[in-house]
Amino acid sequence: MSDYRLNTKCVQAGYTPSNGEPRQIPIVQSTTFKYDTSEDMGKLFDLEASGYFYTRLQNPTNDHVAAKIAALEGGTAGMLTSSGQAANFYSLFNICECGSHIVSSSSIYGGTFNLISVTMKKMGIDVTFVAPDASEEELNAAFKENTRAVFGETIANPALTVLDIEKYAKAAHAHGVPLIIDNTFPTPVNCRPIEWGADIVTHSTTKYMDGHGAAVGGAIVDSGKFDWMAHADLFPGLTTPDDSYHGITYAEKFGKEGAFITKATAQIMRDLGSIQSPQNAFILNLGLESLHVRMPRHVENGQAVAEFLEGHDKVESVNYPGLKSNKYYDVAQKYLGGGGCGVVSFVLKGGRPAAESFMKRLKLAAIETHVADARTCCLNPATSTHRQMTEAQLNAAGIPAGMVRMSCGLEDKADLIDDLKQALEF
Ligand SMILES: *Cc1c(COP(=O)(O)O)cnc(C)c1O
Repeated sequence: MSDYRLNTKCVQAGYTPSNGEPRQIPIVQSTTFKYDTSEDMGKLFDLEASGYFYTRLQNPTNDHVAAKIAALEGGTAGMLTSSGQAANFYSLFNICECGSHIVSSSSIYGGTFNLISVTMKKMGIDVTFVAPDASEEELNAAFKENTRAVFGETIANPALTVLDIEKYAKAAHAHGVPLIIDNTFPTPVNCRPIEWGADIVTHSTTKYMDGHGAAVGGAIVDSGKFDWMAHADLFPGLTTPDDSYHGITYAEKFGKEGAFITKATAQIMRDLGSIQSPQNAFILNLGLESLHVRMPRHVENGQAVAEFLEGHDKVESVNYPGLKSNKYYDVAQKYLGGGGCGVVSFVLKGGRPAAESFMKRLKLAAIETHVADARTCCLNPATSTHRQMTEAQLNAAGIPAGMVRMSCGLEDKADLIDDLKQALEF
């Protein structure tokens, strides 16, 4: 399957039925698996043989879907998690422990920002945040002796900044640590971070990958390129025996290609248990089968809506990486070949009351705390996700009260623009 083009992989990678087997990935709705002898099962526990014994560790449905996502990203191994939050936590916690330090872009999803800056801090893992467009010098200055990972989002949710992945990868590798990229917004259809030097890629599959607002989920993909043994002293969890797993040394036994995901499964998933249900993995795969058809339409609609809004006299500013006026236009052209997703944010003249009257008039775009599915939706952060903040705090955070975030779905762009036009007559 690795020779096929991306469009074909979206439809068929990860599962090839044999003669007489189901055409669609079967939902293996079973917690456990049966064996003839204890010896057979023992080999699985020792990671001597591959196979299934308990769904918290592995399940065939999930493995087929994870293999498809790994193929789409150009990685060597992948796993599913119960949510994007779990994917980002596992990818970091697989190589960080109490006393470690992370360098992260400051422009990331709010949930991930909290995870790293509050919850992981309580575990003794420290962080230095740097601007997404930090210079090489600023990036290099953020590293410490105990830095174990660099983290960023290809297109940040909701700020829509675009990361210079090559620059971040260069800085990470110069310090002997991997670059982890959350590629949720562009999906592998619009950007494959591994091709630009990223080592680990994560996803909230809840967004475009599912694409229908039907199932919360996450995924982690390993590029198989990071040489853990070359930096053995920094990553003892991968390069020294795991006492909790019969003394296995992951990087020795599974090599560069398999060590990261095997450890994340055999140790982190075993102990923390944030599995994706096989039902949800099946739903996710239905979304993946049309991802290559849907993403171009999301981008087309995002671009059209952004251009329309930019020319409207009630709109103060528009933020979309596909607009020539955007600070990240050149970076977006390089990494995304355009706007990269269907999410557009804009600020209405007249602040909070203007945003409220405008949104009340919208007919197609529903008000929701969600992005990246088939139906257009929008949100005014000042009256919803950020309503605890004062006007001054909102301005300082770069979220003016009149800001609206709009996730353009798969409807006809002319209808979306007509809806905006009439709603702007408030
Ligand atoms: C939504 C989102 C997450 C969190 O994912 P959940 O599936 O909601 O846990 C992480 N990163 C990005 C970029 C997101 O948009």
